[in-house]
Amino acid sequence: MFAMMARTTRAAAEAAKRKKQKEESSSQISKREENEVEKVGEVEEVEEVEDEDLGVSVHNTQTVAAVASQVLPATTVAQSSRKREAVAEEEEETTRVVKKARGKKSEVMIPAARTAGVRMMVGAHVSMAGGVQHAITNSLKIGGNAFALFLKSQRKWTSPDMKEVDAKAFRAGCEKNGFDPRKHVLPHGSYLINLANGDAEKAKKAYDCFLDDLKRCERLGIGLYNFHPGSTLGLSRSESLSRIAKALNKAHSETKFCVTVLENMAGAGNVIGGKFEDLRDIIAMVEDKDRVGVCLDTCHLFAAGHDIRTQGSYDKVMSNFDRIIGRKYLVALHINDSKAPLASKRDLHQNIGLGFLGLEPFRLIMNDERLEGLPLILETPMEEEKTWAEEIKLLESLIGAKGDDPEFLARAKELADRGIGERRTAGIAAQKKTAKAVVKPGKGRRKSVKKDESDNEGSDNDGGEHHC
Ligand SMILES: [Zn+2]
Ligand SMILES: [Zn+2]
Repeated sequence: MFAMMARTTRAAAEAAKRKKQKEESSSQISKREENEVEKVGEVEEVEEVEDEDLGVSVHNTQTVAAVASQVLPATTVAQSSRKREAVAEEEEETTRVVKKARGKKSEVMIPAARTAGVRMMVGAHVSMAGGVQHAITNSLKIGGNAFALFLKSQRKWTSPDMKEVDAKAFRAGCEKNGFDPRKHVLPHGSYLINLANGDAEKAKKAYDCFLDDLKRCERLGIGLYNFHPGSTLGLSRSESLSRIAKALNKAHSETKFCVTVLENMAGAGNVIGGKFEDLRDIIAMVEDKDRVGVCLDTCHLFAAGHDIRTQGSYDKVMSNFDRIIGRKYLVALHINDSKAPLASKRDLHQNIGLGFLGLEPFRLIMNDERLEGLPLILETPMEEEKTWAEEIKLLESLIGAKGDDPEFLARAKELADRGIGERRTAGIAAQKKTAKAVVKPGKGRRKSVKKDESDNEGSDNDGGEHHC
């Protein structure tokens, strides 16, 4: 509690500092920092608290705004703190997002038109604050042809049952707007769930939460459910993998059709899913192979050491995936650039083209016909709704673009130039972290990480990964 208060105080101090900076030298403040100061529902600081038993944690920048709007919809400070307290009471051991509403209204955005006729189904992880059906509206606003959402608070073990009126509105909304919920809607599981947990009581809690999510999917007609495989918590890998598979088998027997979709991870510490072999071995133990799939996150791939930056390396990674896991299991992608370098094991999402991946891998993805029809979900840092609307259009503009097209090269350079500062900061931080890890091997306790000026958070993923 004291730690939380201290961090909250620090968040306030940080905010004051930034505000002062803005007043004193507004011309020197980058647009990004300015946005941070101005924005409604701003996330002041993301606190990271890891539970060693759960082996889960939440990172950082990506979809922080979306995350915040779901946990703590941008209403009032009073409401925010009430919700925060509720979360704190219920789960001492989870990550928290602290934010403050600043009393200003956000810009009203003109809905972006969806691109008709495209076979690459791009969208983003949108908010469902106020009810699951709002995810559809939020996706329409940014021109998404697919979308991801949380089905309930991703930081609470139990949530009120979904209202039938909301479920009905969701099903009708999908129908009306041409979203196929079996294929193009990809809910993301709660951060708390670690199906590999060896503690019987905690494993049951995780399983119940997981099953509840799956049941919600089925009520909504959703056919895919994406989750993080979990963490070994330092126990044996093979036991952990079989615990996950066992839970999946049980969940499949208690539900009807929803496919459980394992996500590849950046692979720090005890986290399962950094290696394709982890996913392969889980799938091998799943009885109903039609009920299991894989979602590849581009940022996680890169952080785990899979280089996808050139046609040659991309093809190699895809053929490794096919050889080790099997292409038929690939049912979705998370489309994120990376703030951290190759094989950094750090899960830091960046906007498309600004990170260490650059624009080229996304051109390769958008022209990979094997990925046609799969939900391609952005989980990039979102400062305002139009960020995702622009990224969707950017990605769609890459369809048909050649790698040597001057227009494409100019766009790639423009974005790379925009991200240079953050790449430098994150690169240095990653090096320092690696050096630290060499000095202190086996350190398992996560610290709360303070954001630096460039909004680059350290995600000290010694024992667990984040979200999305
Ligand atoms: Zn991530
Ligand atoms: Zn994820």
